[in-house]
Parts: sequence; structure tokens; C-alpha cells
Amino acid sequence: MLSFADNTPADAALDLTATIARDLIRFDTTNYGEGRSNGETDAAEYVEANLRSLGLAPQLFDSEPGRTSVVVRVPGRDSSRGALVVHGHLDVVPADPEAWSVDPFAGVIKDGLLWGRGAVDMKNMDAMMLASLQNILGSGQEPARELIVAFFADEEAGGVLGSHYLVDTRPELFQGATEAISEVGGYSITLGGQRAYLLQTGEKALIWIKLVARGEAAHGSRLIRSNAVTRLAEAVAKVGRREWPIRLTETTTQLLAELARVLDVDPQRVGPDELALATGTASGFIQASLRTTTNPTVLHAGYKHNVIPDRAEALIDIRTLPGDEDSVLAEVAALVGPDIEIVVMHRDIGLETEFGGPLVDAVVETLGRHDPGAPVLPYLLSAGTDNKALSTLGIKGYGFAPLKLPADLDFPAMFHGVDERVPLDALVFGRQVLTDLLSNY
Ligand SMILES: [Zn+2]
Repeated sequence: MLSFADNTPADAALDLTATIARDLIRFDTTNYGEGRSNGETDAAEYVEANLRSLGLAPQLFDSEPGRTSVVVRVPGRDSSRGALVVHGHLDVVPADPEAWSVDPFAGVIKDGLLWGRGAVDMKNMDAMMLASLQNILGSGQEPARELIVAFFADEEAGGVLGSHYLVDTRPELFQGATEAISEVGGYSITLGGQRAYLLQTGEKALIWIKLVARGEAAHGSRLIRSNAVTRLAEAVAKVGRREWPIRLTETTTQLLAELARVLDVDPQRVGPDELALATGTASGFIQASLRTTTNPTVLHAGYKHNVIPDRAEALIDIRTLPGDEDSVLAEVAALVGPDIEIVVMHRDIGLETEFGGPLVDAVVETLGRHDPGAPVLPYLLSAGTDNKALSTLGIKGYGFAPLKLPADLDFPAMFHGVDERVPLDALVFGRQVLTDLLSNY
């Protein structure tokens, strides 16, 4: 039974985007990784029903039982233009209810915000996509170009059972598409008191590895120097403490120059990290886009307090700058030494697209109509999206899920964070901007 606080607005007062996002949050679509998840099919069927109510003919695809993606084509006015893929993912990362101040799957609305796992990653954009289609088709209009609207499963585990599955087995679904827009871009940041928008034009590569240490199994009271847990801990500390050097790419070079211009500082005198820090809460994303990161995330070892196990394992989440994958892997191998086995669990490419061309122009113009005077800056996402899979079909991907955010919201901290939430008025803004873009681009 769901209950709501007194300050919950009546549904009638809620924007369609908020009600759809809230509905989607109430499907617990937790992706636990390693093939385990739940709820994606229920969410996919909800999306399917929503699309059917707009007169569309969505198709559902199960890569495995319960791992459902939805794809639908929406005809456009101008068939001479390439189709645009507008995509989101339906899965979310786990949420520990103990750590949250609200139930992460209740879709609570309070203090003018929608709270819940997926509120920003990315049931917000899923809802904006559906609400924008409703705006356009419901008023008897068509998008400017043909749209291929996709809701993927499994993004949070690298998209193997979602975007990669569809790109590999059903590439014809994306036939005719030249560009794609999706999550983690298009949101506003506050630079020296001025609002600006970040358009994601690139993504770091990802390599998820497992470190395996082996040693002698023995009684916990013995003198054992080949202790697998000790060996693993040493390797994990080296990888986790490694300070990777800053290397600027085309995107981050351009971003830093723009930041210096907007903040009115001399880029020769202010270093990249310092400039990134000047972006306030956005520095959580930007600093990580300047270098490789190698974060230990999971440890597995042992089964009894007085037994030395013969094996210990750690998972490391590596995000390299595009093109640095092999050199970083080699350096990690050298860091941990020959006694540690490295198993590559999942690997995906980095992307970088120029900050220019018709889509970027359209995004800049559209944002200019809805938030005049706010500059739009390119950035390299420190994480990854389903754009990686689509890029293998030659589709250029951008992160554009528009949100006008208050200066005091630590937006990067919302992603996979505790008390993930999004302002209701930002959802309305997002729907309006997306409707405008899809109607005119
Ligand atoms: Zn996401």
C-alpha cells in the first residue's frame, strides 16, 4: 500500500511527465548485474501500452526471459532526413532502502521533487520521451524526422542483454538512423552564478575486470605468507590509489576553454582540475572526464573467521579515456604483478563526436528558445551509455536529456546515489525542450 504525505499534489496538478516517471519508478527494475535483474518486462509492458495508446505499434524483444526491450518507429514529416534514435533504459541500479529517507520504489513526491531510484537515471528521460510523443502525436502533428524510440533492458550491466543484444541480432531495427540522443547530458550546471548546459558528445571506455589472488588454504592460526586475502588487498590498494595523469581529449580541451571563457579566468594560469572544481557540483562528472579512473567496487573472499581461504577476488571498474584501453590494462597488470590473475568481465569502447553539425546546432537553438542566454558546452561523460552499442551501427550518439536544475542540487550525486530525486519543474522543462527538438529537427 502506498501512502503519500499531505504536501503531495493531486495527480491532476502533476505534469504527464511526472506521472509517467512516477509510474516507472514504482516498477522495481533493479539490475543486480551478472545476468540478475527483475521487473524489466513489467516496465516494458507499461511502455508498450503507453505507445499503443498513441496509435503506435511497438515491438517487445526478450534477450532472455524477463529481459525485455521495447522499440517503436514513429513516422516523420521529412523522409529525406536520417532517422533519429531516441533511447532510454528501463533498468536501474540497486537501492538500499535503509540508507534512503524515502522508499526508493514508491515514487514519492514531496518538496516539489519526484524521489526514487531512476528519478534521474533514467526514468525521467523515459517519461520525457513518452510525454513528448504524446504532445506531438496527440496534437495531430508528426516529428520532423522519423524517430526510432527504444527502451532498453540491461544498460546498468553494460547493455549485453539490451542494446548490444538488439544491435547484434536485430540491426534492421535501427536501419536508416544516423544519430541518437539519450541520457546524461542536456542538464544545467551553475558556473559562477550563471546557468549553462552540458551536452554530452563523448563517453569514456569501460573495462570491468576481476582480480583473482590465490594462496594456500590453511587454519587461521598458521604462519602463512601466501595468504590470498593479503595478496588481493595489496593489489586492490595499488589499483585504487593509482593517480592517473590528466590527458585532455578534443572534447575536454574544448570544454575547459569554454569554462575559462564563461568563468572569465585565464586558462594558462588555472589548471584543468582547478577549472573543473570551479563548476561546483558538476565537477563530480568533469574531473573524472580528464583522466582514467580505476575504482575497486566489490570484494569476495573467505567463508569462516578461522579459515584462510585459497582464493580472493575483487571487482575493479576501470574507465579509460577513449583509445587508452589497452595501455591502461597493461599498466594495471604491471601494478598488481604476476601473482594476480586479471579476468576481463566486460569491455566497451569509448566515443567522441565533434561538438558541431546540425544536431548540435539544433540542440543549442532549442535550448536557446527555452532558456535564453545560457551557454551550451560539450563534455565527455565519465561513464557510458547505450550509445556505445548504437555506435557500432555507425550511429552518432549524444547525451541530451534536458533538465533545468536549481544551483543547489548536486546532480552528479543523484546518479546511483542515495535519495535520487528530480525537481518536478525540471521534468516539465525537459518535456517541452524535447518536444520542441523532436518537432523541428
Ligand atoms: Zn543510465
